[in-house]
Amino acid sequence: MDRHEFKKKVVDYAYSIGIDEIGFTHAEPFLEFKEKLIDYHKRGYASGFEKGTAAERTEPELSLDSAESIISIAVGYPNKMPDAPKSRKGERRGLFARASWGVDYHTLLNQRLSKLEAYIRELDPRVETRSMVDTGVLSDREVARRSGLGYIGKNGFVINPNLGTYSYLGEMITSFPFPPDEELIDSCGDCNLCVDRCPTGALMGNGQLDSQKCISFQTQTKGFLPDEYRSKIGNRLYGCDTCQQVCPRNKGINTDHHADIELEPEVLKPELTGLLEISNKDFKGTYGHLAGVWRGKKPIQRNAIIALAHYKERDSIDVLKRVAENDQRPVIKGTAYWAIGRILQSEALEYINERYIIEADEEVKREMLKGVQEAV
Ligand code: SF4
Ligand code: SF4
Repeated sequence: MDRHEFKKKVVDYAYSIGIDEIGFTHAEPFLEFKEKLIDYHKRGYASGFEKGTAAERTEPELSLDSAESIISIAVGYPNKMPDAPKSRKGERRGLFARASWGVDYHTLLNQRLSKLEAYIRELDPRVETRSMVDTGVLSDREVARRSGLGYIGKNGFVINPNLGTYSYLGEMITSFPFPPDEELIDSCGDCNLCVDRCPTGALMGNGQLDSQKCISFQTQTKGFLPDEYRSKIGNRLYGCDTCQQVCPRNKGINTDHHADIELEPEVLKPELTGLLEISNKDFKGTYGHLAGVWRGKKPIQRNAIIALAHYKERDSIDVLKRVAENDQRPVIKGTAYWAIGRILQSEALEYINERYIIEADEEVKREMLKGVQEAV
């Protein structure tokens, strides 16, 4: 079959299985991106969640010997939640970032990529493929950019004319030389909104992100949240959408036509105190399908405690005291004591002082002292 005809069939099939955008690029190394990656690591911007060496991340042939082309796919996701429950006094709520709304996007994209692989092999059984989503070594964003799906904005996201920044990206390396698409020539121009509005100054203004400063990264760590981010995290349980929400390129876009992206308002915007004493089994049953819980229950609970402190939620004091006294994990215990100090201020002094005398864990004691400082 002619290369162009083969490509057209693949494109048509992709649209029929719920892929919103598809683009093609050659499988040559990503040389410019390799330089950026090296610079990114040198500057200490990496999150530590990245996979593979700079060579593996930029040379498709290291993932598939016979690599000739790469197919990039994008599936848009909604950014508006109908019937979102209100966060009100006595019932404060946290929020999962939009990329975590609905079934885990790794599952969603892998299902579509598997179907696409099967279809390609049906057309030509000799074609070899290797698909990856997020956890693979190639950069989903860089592949998407070179495949013409969009340009990379100052917020670091691929901006597609139809989906804006709200899309899941995945790719497939293939041994068939599909004709490549043109890169999209576009830019943010004079706009600098995401850089200006980022609560922690994590965006460098050139599409580069200092992951260590980014709240999205910080919500996913398992230790104590560094002090400087505790007042910035707000009610975020996982991720941060600010640099996408302010982006004018997302105006009027809300991709909500995928039946397999089902929004569960009570799960995605949960009542905070209900998270603090939840069992592992119940947590897994209610939240286990979300991409946002890939680091487990602890970071979500830690963030929920910080969110209660953010709201100065006095109605949560009883549960915070139970958690501080009974939870065995220093991060949760210590953060709870800190939150009690922050919420009750001087009224917390006597309680924290009494508990300090009988507390044995040094990390928890350090947080208790911080709680006292919040209180004076
Ligand atoms: S996700 Fe939030 S913290 Fe991170 S760069 Fe965007 S606005 Fe800043
Ligand atoms: S907010 Fe403005 S500067 Fe930032 S990505 Fe969107 S268009 Fe670009």
